[in-house]
This record gives sequence, C-alpha cells and structure tokens, in this order.
Amino acid sequence: MKIRDVDMELAQAMQNELERQRTKLELIASENYVMEPVLEAQGSVLTNKYAEGYPKRRYYGGCEYIDVVETLAIERAKELFKAEGANVQPHSGTQANFAVYFATMNPGDTLLGMDLSAGGHLSHGSPVSVTGKYFNAVHYGVDKETELIDYNQVEDLAKQYKPKVIVAGASAYPRFIDFEKFATIAKSVGAYLMVDMAHIAGLVAAGVHPSPIPYADFVTTTTHKTLRGPRGGMILFKKEHEKILNKAVFPGIQGGPLEHVIAAKAVALKLAMTDEFKEYQKQVVVNAKALANALMKRGFRLITNGTDNHLLSIDLRSKNITGKEAERLLDSVYITTNKESIPFDPLPPTETSGLRLGTPALTTRGMKETEMEYIAELIDRAIESRNDEKKLELIRNEVLELTKKFPIYPNISYI
Ligand code: PLP
Repeated sequence: MKIRDVDMELAQAMQNELERQRTKLELIASENYVMEPVLEAQGSVLTNKYAEGYPKRRYYGGCEYIDVVETLAIERAKELFKAEGANVQPHSGTQANFAVYFATMNPGDTLLGMDLSAGGHLSHGSPVSVTGKYFNAVHYGVDKETELIDYNQVEDLAKQYKPKVIVAGASAYPRFIDFEKFATIAKSVGAYLMVDMAHIAGLVAAGVHPSPIPYADFVTTTTHKTLRGPRGGMILFKKEHEKILNKAVFPGIQGGPLEHVIAAKAVALKLAMTDEFKEYQKQVVVNAKALANALMKRGFRLITNGTDNHLLSIDLRSKNITGKEAERLLDSVYITTNKESIPFDPLPPTETSGLRLGTPALTTRGMKETEMEYIAELIDRAIESRNDEKKLELIRNEVLELTKKFPIYPNISYI
C-alpha cells in the first residue's frame, strides 16, 4: 500500500515538495539533497522498534539487530572524524547542544557562546531558547572592522564570567574558526569547550576545513547539512566524558532513539568516507568562492569579503533592498534563500539587511563554477528588475531550464 492509496491529500503535498526541490535553485546554506540509501533507511521498518538505552544495554528485548545498526553508526562516526566517542541518538542539533549543556552544567551556570546576530545559533544561549532561559548566557561577537570573531573579546568575557562551557561554532560565519585559540581560552578558565560544527561537518569530514576534534571536549553537529545525512544530531566526545554525556542524552533529555534515523546516519557516514564525498566537499567550497567572487564583481558587499567554507553572507544595503524583500523576490523567481542578520545589523531579525547563501545542495546536483557565475547573474538581474514582471518571468524560465539540466530524484514519485 502506498501513501497515495490511503491519503491522496498528503501524497499530493509530498509530490509538490518533490517538484519544488527539483525545479528551484536551493541556496539555503543548511540544506542538501540526501542520497537515496539515506531515504531508504529513514523510511524503513526500524521505525517500529523501541530501544531505550545503548547497544548491549537496552531497556527492551529484541534489540539484537538494532544494536548492530547503532554500533555501525557510532563506529563510523568515530572513524570518520577520528573521535574517541560518539553518541548518534540526538534527534536534532538543538537536542545535541542541550545534551552537552545538561551533561556539564546546572541551571543558572554560565555559558559563553556566539551572539545570534553575529552568526551564532539560537541553541547557543539565545534568550528565546531554553538554552538561554535555563543557563546564564553571555555572548561574544565579531570585530566591527574585520567581521571576524573577536578572540580578544572571547578571552576577556571568559576571564570575567568564568563560564562552565564555551561554545564555538556558528550558523552564518563564512570563515574558518580557530579552534585551537578557543581551546586555549577555555583551558585558561577551566571551561569545557564545545564546538558546534553543524554547518561545516561535511567539510571537516572531507578535510577541507580544520577539524575541531583534537581541541574540543564535545563536538556537536547536525547530520543533515553539509554532511548530507538525515535530519538529526550527533555528539562526538573525549572518552573521559562518555558517562556524563550518554546519561545526559538518555535518560536525560530523550526517550527512545529514532533507530531508522540512526540507520540513515550510518549509511550517510559510510558514504562520507568515499573519495567521491571528498571531491564533492572540495567542489562545495570552490563553488562558494566562485559564487562569492561573481557577486562581488556585480557590486554586492560580502561579509568578510568572501568565504572559506560553504556559505556566504551578503550585506544588501548597497542594493537598497532588505533581506526579507530579497528572500521574497528571489523566491518568486524560484531561487530559494534566507534572510539573515548581518553583524551590527540596524534592522530587526524579521527584516534584516542580509541574505545567506550556500552551495551544498546545488553542488550535490552537479553544478560547478560556470553555474555559480550564472546564478550570481540571475540574482543580480532579479534585484535590478524587481519591479519589472516581464524580466522576472524571463528569469523564472531560465531557472527552470537550468534545474532541468541537473535532475534530482528522477525515480521518485508520490502520486
Ligand atoms: N547548530 C547550528 C550551528 C545550526 O546552524 C543549527 C541549525 O541550523 C543547529 C545547531 C540546530 O539544528 P536543528 O535545527 O537540527 O535543531
């Protein structure tokens, strides 16, 4: 029985989403297209099984094969990232981060993380997140001139507030992060160092971004961004922290693990060990640089004037358009992006002066520098001709032509 046999309304929505993914240009930096084995694992019978606990230490019977699945995921995560320990159960990146905080802090303890407006994530202690409500969050930012992380400020704040945990990692930071520097600061004040590598995990796995593993007590990540696995989270840790970390995930903040998702993580991690994956990650970065250069050539100002990784952040002020307006406009010509606050943004997060773009998804489709150059042109033309419906229609057709040349999921259909 298929979904379409029992629920046509849902099948149609899923088909529409499939068509959207096929026909539009996906430039959201945190998104990707997973390989079909990942979809197969996630849609498997493993969803039927309760397996509270960890391999060989379960609270349910019948876990002998689930143990094989979860052990494969754990061992592959350790091998891929050269980590001493791994927990593959977190349901999301936010859960992974909260688990580390829960393992290392008591409510009211201090955590030092990157400010949301400078590129940090909500789960790094934002006041609207449980991580900022339960813990005393202090934030560092970037230097106004260079727009690079202000390591002197990190050090000053660490000395002043003596945090239990220092968080390095970001959602919208286009440059390498100096993990060694963070580790030195953390050590000097006796803090744990947690690196949230959610955005760059695939790059780290492929060796195109320095690894935080040698420096951090805990490394958290999502598995669905550059790593190209299922939607979920994961934590890598130093062996000495294994007990407190595993206890914090289960029974601390989660119940039964999603073993179908863990199977999908296992297969994604196996795929991440291939040469093809390494080539893919190299191309992600080459494409991001090509897109950045092509946009700068057209008069766009980029935060830090470029990128070292998979994403770029545009300051739109010179183009007289807000992030919110640009996101809407580009959506209307089938280019999917997201508005993003830029450092010291005069506009609120609901408007923003910036736009974040990333190349992981388009690179998975096989696009290269030539397409990046063309996409920069399309973005520029759309913004230039924002009030000219005829010109916008032309761009729409060009996007459809381009995406047709790079097919994705040709054998999937929900109706
Ligand atoms: N950490 C970083 C750096 C992120 O960018 C994100 C998501 O965008 C997360 C954590 C949270 O991941 P999730 O949406 O799976 O909770």
